[in-house]
Amino acid sequence: MDDARKRTWAEIDLDRLAHNYRALRALTDPSCRFMGVVKANAYGHGAVAVARELEALGADYLSVACLDEALELRQAGIQAPILILGITPLEYAGALLDHGIAQTVGDLETAEALSRAASAAGKPLTVHLKVDTGMSRLGFLCDEDHTAQTAEAIGRAWALPSLRWEGIFTHFANADGDEAYTMRQFTRFLDLLDSLAARGITFPIRHCASSAAVLNYPCTHLDMIRPGIALYGHYPAPGMEHTCGLEPVMALKSRVAAVRDLPAGTAVSYGCTRVLERDSRVAVLPVGYADGYFRLFSNALEVQVREGRAPILGRVCMDMCMVDVTDIPGVSAGDEAVLYGDQVTVEAGAELAGTIQYELLCDVSPRVPRIYLGGTVSGSGA
Ligand SMILES: *Cc1c(COP(=O)(O)O)cnc(C)c1O
Repeated sequence: MDDARKRTWAEIDLDRLAHNYRALRALTDPSCRFMGVVKANAYGHGAVAVARELEALGADYLSVACLDEALELRQAGIQAPILILGITPLEYAGALLDHGIAQTVGDLETAEALSRAASAAGKPLTVHLKVDTGMSRLGFLCDEDHTAQTAEAIGRAWALPSLRWEGIFTHFANADGDEAYTMRQFTRFLDLLDSLAARGITFPIRHCASSAAVLNYPCTHLDMIRPGIALYGHYPAPGMEHTCGLEPVMALKSRVAAVRDLPAGTAVSYGCTRVLERDSRVAVLPVGYADGYFRLFSNALEVQVREGRAPILGRVCMDMCMVDVTDIPGVSAGDEAVLYGDQVTVEAGAELAGTIQYELLCDVSPRVPRIYLGGTVSGSGA
């Protein structure tokens, strides 16, 4: 038995990642660059292995949320360009320069401070300018009333020494829901680009399409697409499945630890929220909320065991949970149980938990070993 498979593990199918990469590439112009979003440990899939695979597949760019995520990739030998989408405290500007990491800049003060730091270090810092067209998160505020003012502020940032303005981008707030709002954001972005171009200010890479916009709005692809969730084989929202045959990259699996026959009337797990209505065969699985398997699944979700579906009985504990295998013949200790996979989907769990698939994937905890299958790079499973 492979050691990492002794309890609960996540299988990461790098061939499926490659399939999704190619499927998304096929949706866009061959000249359009591809930024693979690998923040949050590549949505729980393992940032280093995913980044290596994307690099081998020819992804032009990678992006992460923060400096530590970027450094993890650099320390693992990833050479592709990396953009930090979030904020990096100014005192770490040196690390950006030392490791060739590009930084998002969303206001003039930050641009000025980074420019000073880069000048002091004697080398230019690569930066992407962030524009807030309606997400209200980071960026130079850009709405119909402020286009000229914003262009003015951006002009001053653009003229600073020691910053290499490689890109400009914005982020959609509702590209999986509201077309009118998305197009309003997109128009604000294009109007700003026009207004900047009229002042002689241009950026080599204009980008705005995360997965939902990659799938829904080809007009927004511009110079680079920026998908995350779709790369991992999940659609940003229900109802988009018709778009392009994505395949889930992660399967979360566990192994039956014990099988027990318990009589009708027995209470199961903390809080005794479940009392068996019949004599039952109960399988104990060594997976719980400390593995990222939501307690909200208690008495609600099913797992795949052999050919059948086993409903969760009672509360999901920290490290274990119990499932009903009475109707599945022959279940025994050591049998594999699929928690998230092609049959019981991450989407089903997300719906039950009242959240999105992103959260379930990101929450698969560090205790769960990632096992890599397929892929073009040997040693991806580092
Ligand atoms: C997370 C993120 C993405 C990727 O979003 P998906 O919906 O996973 O494709 C793209 N751009 C920015 C700025 C992000 O924060």
